[in-house]
Amino acid sequence: MPTYSEDDLLSLSGLQHLHFCERQWGLIHIEQQWEENRLTAEGRVLHERVHESGSESRPGVLVARGLYLQSLRMGLTGQADAVEFQEVGGAAPGAIQLPGRKGWWRPFPVEYKRGEPKADSCDEVQLCAQAICLEEMFGAAIGSGALFYGKRRRRTEVRFDAELRAHTEELARRMHQLFSAGATPAAVYMKKCDRCSLFDRCLPRATSKRTTVERYLARALRDEEAET
Ligand code: SF4
Repeated sequence: MPTYSEDDLLSLSGLQHLHFCERQWGLIHIEQQWEENRLTAEGRVLHERVHESGSESRPGVLVARGLYLQSLRMGLTGQADAVEFQEVGGAAPGAIQLPGRKGWWRPFPVEYKRGEPKADSCDEVQLCAQAICLEEMFGAAIGSGALFYGKRRRRTEVRFDAELRAHTEELARRMHQLFSAGATPAAVYMKKCDRCSLFDRCLPRATSKRTTVERYLARALRDEEAET
């Protein structure tokens, strides 16, 4: 059942930012701040190359690159690096038919990442959101996809289990909540801030400290009022 209209759709790629830090998502998607560094530039070029490489087919597999994705239920839109349509033996549950092709096929999203697998599950969340979009668009059922990491030069399969799906949908809901509120969440300094591409714009130590001082001042004023 659609929850959002096409005008309400937010960027699917923002899920990875939101998963990393709500403030980072706000700085990028509410305030449109983006600090390109060597790593993000390499990632961007990798995605552009993948999208430009066009579609291909090999026995039992059709590959579509740069496919537009959307989910009105989650309120997300984006682009898949590659979707493999893998031929299945027959009309299996969740398999689909493709225009101009015989047989039954199952979509299998593949996302390309520079570097190595991350400590958190932000890449898995992004891939799972792509799968949920494909399921909604094609009426398919997708059990797994793959992440391809440039440094390892091989795929890691990702199962879209109930826990990953629930986490992905919760992040999508939270993203819409934050977008409706229209305010970038305040900084809270964490260890991972040191590897954040927006560290210099966010200034988490300074802004977190200011928040602490504001809280201290508010408490002091409350105590003052209580004594008078
Ligand atoms: S520096 Fe830290 S608080 Fe600021 S956006 Fe990055 S991760 Fe979030």
